[in-house]
Amino acid sequence: MKQKNIILNGIAASSGVAIGKVFILEEDDLVAVKKDVPVNKINREFARLRIAVRQTKADLERNYAELNKMLGENYAKIADAHILILNDPMIGKEVIDCVKQGNTAEFAIYTVVKKFSKSFDAIEDEYFRERKNDMIDVAKKVTAHLLGKSKKTLADLEENSIVVAKNIMPSDTVAMRENMVGGFATDLGGKTSHTALVARSLEIPAVVGLKNVSYHVKQGMPIIIDGNNGIVILDPTEETINNYKREYEIQFSNRKALEQFKDLPAVTTDGTEVQLGANIETPKEIRSVLRHGANGIGLYRSEFMYLTGSSMPTEEEHYQNYIQIAKMMMPYDVIIRTMDLGGDKIAKLGFMEVGREANPFMGLRAIRFCLKYPEIFKIQLKGILRASVCGNIKIMYPMISSVAEIKAANKILEQAKEELRIEGKLFNENIKVGAMIEVPSAALITDLIAREVDFLSIGTNDLIQYTIAVDRVNANITHLYNPMHPAILRLLKWIIDCAHQAGVDVGMCGEMAGDPSYTVVLLGLGLDEFSMSAAQIPQVKKIIRSVSKEKAKILVTKLLECSSMAEIETEMKKFKYI
Ligand code: PEP
Ligand code: MG
Repeated sequence: MKQKNIILNGIAASSGVAIGKVFILEEDDLVAVKKDVPVNKINREFARLRIAVRQTKADLERNYAELNKMLGENYAKIADAHILILNDPMIGKEVIDCVKQGNTAEFAIYTVVKKFSKSFDAIEDEYFRERKNDMIDVAKKVTAHLLGKSKKTLADLEENSIVVAKNIMPSDTVAMRENMVGGFATDLGGKTSHTALVARSLEIPAVVGLKNVSYHVKQGMPIIIDGNNGIVILDPTEETINNYKREYEIQFSNRKALEQFKDLPAVTTDGTEVQLGANIETPKEIRSVLRHGANGIGLYRSEFMYLTGSSMPTEEEHYQNYIQIAKMMMPYDVIIRTMDLGGDKIAKLGFMEVGREANPFMGLRAIRFCLKYPEIFKIQLKGILRASVCGNIKIMYPMISSVAEIKAANKILEQAKEELRIEGKLFNENIKVGAMIEVPSAALITDLIAREVDFLSIGTNDLIQYTIAVDRVNANITHLYNPMHPAILRLLKWIIDCAHQAGVDVGMCGEMAGDPSYTVVLLGLGLDEFSMSAAQIPQVKKIIRSVSKEKAKILVTKLLECSSMAEIETEMKKFKYI
């Protein structure tokens, strides 16, 4: 039969190309038919339920241990949450009552989950929707044991399978063996969903948010994942396969060729050296960071610590997490960004008023939340301070919009230090403190902010969206989200010049820093440190080592005179490295 080349567009969650066969990760529907159980058989029903719950608990515990070993404790907590649901007394009581009324165990589970799901739906809160999915996931596992069925899992994978699913449940991540899974495609999920995080940290090409890919596929069907462009091609033609094979080979040989740069400095042909750091979200990524030759961690998004547990992390948990990273990264620096959470994510931890905001990205998030709840902020600061005994940790505040916020944050930092002194706990008295420049108001007063900090880091992901007023995740206006807007260029120049006049180093940790198309421009603007996902480092380093800073500066002078993105792009295309 003729191939069809069905192209589906989604969100590019993890870069790279993968060609393989579809492996459908089945999602059994949770359904059960009502069947009356005679009074003398009810005890037997209870026994069935007990055994199934015990078996599910054993599965989840095994799952926890494997997750912990493979991806670290933060991910393992996800399995822990499922165990908590399994032990939930309220759900348990309702199921038992339903069985007592003469129903089968599977029908009781089905009825109770349906009832609880309705209450979750009524709340209409993203966090609770997630909890609903967790509850359904656990219910399916117990039902599968009751029915003696075992679901096809990722452990059944053949090499280079491409996993297609509605959504990949956290528990399924256990079986993602690096050399087995070729790529992923899911109906649900965004760039920062759990699936995307895992795919990026394992360097597996992935496209998420495809809406209905699971509806279109058949088991074993040929499929291509283009994680660079957020495209999935089903039933590709020979020609398409050959094109992508070439791209795959280029990608493979490029990666190999870039290995030679791993231990070389990022220095221009006329002798300017810059630092290339990595952005991480979990300690698990450190191995990849070191493998790609990073000079440190330019951004540790500490939020993940808050997202995996069901309560706020303790000072000890913060400390253990940071000291582990600091030790592994010795002698390089590690910049820990204090938590940048808001909206539904904070609501999850019990701050319901925040979850109801109409525009959470411009709401009570990041430093604003921390300044409103200083006791919570202090717990993280104390954890960071204690880990700073290693000597290579720096603190960075996110979403700073004024000098007053830095002063207020530093005041809480001083209180945290004083408490540690009283408690007799050691820390680095001279820990360096920096601010992110990612809000236009902060950018415009960089000269004033630079006086208050030891370093600055430009968060272009947010800075671009707020400067151009273009939502960074809105697919309808992605064409407007362009780092080469003349306003962005001018703003970057202003920030970098102000920082240098104040004698402060300035880095960049937004996605722009890792995009090779902008490396020369950023060099010409005078950026001191670039921080990006580890896998991008070798490519950016290669460019830096092949260009002179003088030439890059001349290019920037020309670009700053352009009045449109089109003119800027034309000038950039004309640029010759040598
Ligand atoms: C940024 O805004 O550029 C940034 C690095 O922060 P995040 O992407 O976590 O918002
Ligand atoms: Mg940001």
